[in-house]
Amino acid sequence: MSLLPDHLTDRYRRFRFRHYAPNQDRYEELAERGQAPDVMVVSCCDSRVDPETIFSAMPGELFVVRNVANLVPPFETTGRYHGVSAALEFAALNLRVRHIIVMGHSSCGGIRACLEHDAARQTEAQFISNWMTLLDGAREAVNQENTGGSVGDLTSALEREGVKTSLANLRTFPCIQILESKGRVALYGTHFDIASGALSVLNEGTGKFVEV
Ligand SMILES: [Zn+2]
Repeated sequence: MSLLPDHLTDRYRRFRFRHYAPNQDRYEELAERGQAPDVMVVSCCDSRVDPETIFSAMPGELFVVRNVANLVPPFETTGRYHGVSAALEFAALNLRVRHIIVMGHSSCGGIRACLEHDAARQTEAQFISNWMTLLDGAREAVNQENTGGSVGDLTSALEREGVKTSLANLRTFPCIQILESKGRVALYGTHFDIASGALSVLNEGTGKFVEV
């Protein structure tokens, strides 16, 4: 029995031949000097929304945190395990990234679970339903603003509202507040449409997402 599924071993060998070999110098330099990305991306675990692919990134260029529905929890110090907060702290204080991008996307299962939260809580999906309570406030706002809207309308609206919530939560971190006020880090909200490939960017002045 192979230790890895055969198709993954094959894909890895293809990577070594087609990607690693032509870029070996770059990998060796990154290993020797360490990473120095100037962009952090918070994106969803969704397999269809890969930041490195979307931004045509090379190794060492993007510091990526992925979780269900691309959420940033608010700053707090009472809990025990804070994976997103630890990554954010490392990116802001150690790597000194200049840009932090929150990337939402269409057809997000986490967002859908949030909208159907009552059903989700009746199942064994306890981790997702608890995680998605981070968007309870956003969901209430979206439901009020889209009374009578279809599930598709609500999902689409909450995908974007969730990005705004994560940006607001980013700004609850003291280090982000200080760095942003000094102009040393900039925050961006984006939304990727899987079917069309369109990337939209939030204009925080108008609250609207504008296609790039
Ligand atoms: Zn998602």
